[in-house]
Amino acid sequence: MDDWKRVLAESITKPKDLAKRLGVDPREVEEVVGPYPMRITPTVLATIKERGDAIWKQVVPDAVEMNDFDAPDDPLEEDTDSPVPHLVHRYPDRVLLMVTNQCPIYCRFCTRKRLVGKPGFLKKGELDQAIAYLREHTEVRDVILSGGDPLLLPDHLIERILKALRTIPHLELIRFGSRVPGTLPQRITPELCEIVKRYHPIYMNLHFNHPDELTPDVKAACGRLADAGVPLGAQTVLLKGVNDDAAVMKRLMHELLLARVKPYYLYQADLTKGTNHFRTSVETGLSIIQSLQGHTSGMAVPHFVIDAPGGGGKIPLLPSDYLLNLDENGAVLKNYENKTYHYPQPDPITPHPGPLPEGNSGRLRELPMVGTSASEGLCSLGAMDE
Ligand SMILES: *Cc1c(COP(=O)(O)O)cnc(C)c1O
Ligand code: SF4
Repeated sequence: MDDWKRVLAESITKPKDLAKRLGVDPREVEEVVGPYPMRITPTVLATIKERGDAIWKQVVPDAVEMNDFDAPDDPLEEDTDSPVPHLVHRYPDRVLLMVTNQCPIYCRFCTRKRLVGKPGFLKKGELDQAIAYLREHTEVRDVILSGGDPLLLPDHLIERILKALRTIPHLELIRFGSRVPGTLPQRITPELCEIVKRYHPIYMNLHFNHPDELTPDVKAACGRLADAGVPLGAQTVLLKGVNDDAAVMKRLMHELLLARVKPYYLYQADLTKGTNHFRTSVETGLSIIQSLQGHTSGMAVPHFVIDAPGGGGKIPLLPSDYLLNLDENGAVLKNYENKTYHYPQPDPITPHPGPLPEGNSGRLRELPMVGTSASEGLCSLGAMDE
């Protein structure tokens, strides 16, 4: 057996083992793990420092999950936007493909709580159906492998899926959404990295919620993926009692960058039934973004989004304080230090250069320069302007 499969098999899934290791009353979790399974990998278990800490809250079943108000179990209405089984096509040019229901850990706040933990991977016939759909839909240029967690599939199934996807000529990007590097770093084997390398461009967005998750082993696993040429992003869920704190969030973002992972999305928690005790106010997220923007590396600031209930998709939110006024005279702006600045609109009578004459495309550099210096040469000049 592969080493990572042995490690995964050592995870805690039974209430009596949880009781032994963490001293909880097994009767408290027994009724919860029926509908909502538990799995805690050795890496995650070792990171728990005390009862109720940020790691504990994410993985230890809690009786309140059973007493949630009458919330929807599919608030994002993913089932509605599913043209063929396991495929969600909501946005114009990209789709989600859920290739397994298995995860290395079962996060208590999971949006797909209704699905995860059920046995089974995507079946051969279902993959064929998804591939046929994608082949027909030439507008799709980006596929996100999700689940569950796609990196829990055995190597040969990952390769089968990647190979099938790469037979579709119009498909440009393949992305993985995964919590595996942060919870089961042993899974990121040299063999897996070799497979992934053969199907670039492949991107991965890794799920991390707390700085303590970035152990040396986890950082090394991220490094192996980065060395295989995979650009790594992070997705973080804003969770009450876990990371709803500016200092914790800043530490997380810094640890991610140290692990060569670029923060991508910070999600407001969804309304999913059984998870509402994790929700924070929307203001909490906005004020966390405000505490990062300008105060630390811009690389460390994720996009804060709400995945709109009812299937509206991800909607970005920015603190409203930055743009004080915008009209034909320009923008009145406030920076991170609360200082006010004015940015004038361009002169309306500046003529647009218009289209290039026929056969002149090679002489682009001879065109007169237009626009303000702020919009040009961002690659180097922007940084030297200061
Ligand atoms: C998040 C998501 C995507 C990807 O969105 P990006 O903003 O491109 O990362 C695609 N489809 C669905 C259904 C999603 O929820
Ligand atoms: S790893 Fe992702 S899909 Fe799996 S339980 Fe956690 S949040 Fe849900």
